[in-house]
Amino acid sequence: MSEPILEMTNVSKRYRTAGGFGRRRKGFLAVDGVSLRIGRGEALGLVGESGSGKSTLARMANGLVVPTSGTVRTDGQDVACLSRRGLRRLRRNVAMVFQDPLASLNPRQTVRQTLANVFHAHGEATSTAELVALLESVGLDADYLGRYPHEASGGQLQRVAVARALALKPDLIIADEPTSALDVSVRAQILNLLADLQRDQGISFLHVSHDLAVIRLYSDRVAVMQRGRIVETGPSDEIFRSPQHSCTRALVEATPEAELPA
Ligand code: ADP
Ligand code: MG
Repeated sequence: MSEPILEMTNVSKRYRTAGGFGRRRKGFLAVDGVSLRIGRGEALGLVGESGSGKSTLARMANGLVVPTSGTVRTDGQDVACLSRRGLRRLRRNVAMVFQDPLASLNPRQTVRQTLANVFHAHGEATSTAELVALLESVGLDADYLGRYPHEASGGQLQRVAVARALALKPDLIIADEPTSALDVSVRAQILNLLADLQRDQGISFLHVSHDLAVIRLYSDRVAVMQRGRIVETGPSDEIFRSPQHSCTRALVEATPEAELPA
């Protein structure tokens, strides 16, 4: 088996907290001894109720959050041991798509500036043709280059955010609730776009959602998180068909009837 793109071993994150007597001293354990791996070209779905630690875990994968203990290896390298240059390379290889595209894009920058900045930040030149091709790969035409975020819809903005993530040809994309802030009508389009990228470009995915129905359709494997721990993992369909853990069962039961597998 080839080296996984991401391997987390016994990773924990304790946040320092301001409130409460006990909490003040001990802090809050948001992620508690999690191990997971994502193979090359694999899409792993991370599902769990709100507050279970999904975003914290996802952000430790690319160094946005530093683990309190445990090791994170991306592309075979220990993230804690990276130099500044190594960290830059990591951010290149591991891109993120966030929940709210409007909040994640600079309102004062056109789409052209947003995309060009990604190249500039990594010391690379770019051309209009390259930016247009990038937009086309996410289903937007060249007109969007001149637009500001307020001149586009939520779904279009999330496509721009995906284009930004794709710009430097990452090996892994972490999508943290990428459709939760979008209208129901465009959710499927964005999810299909991400699935196409996984299939056509062989990009690995860590797809985070509180919605098991979404995760099941777009992931090869699912990990279920509850209170900072992974309580169940397995192939998506299996998890859905015969959930073992009570938390997974609750997530399955919360899925609308129409989305249940036949
Ligand atoms: P999820 O993405 O599953 O909703 P999060 O990782 O965002 O979960 O949060 C897990 C827990 O950690 C929550 O109880 C949240 O309040 C807490 N938390 C998240 N970020 C911070 C932070 N920066 N400081 C303190 N507590 C935090
Ligand atoms: Mg979250």
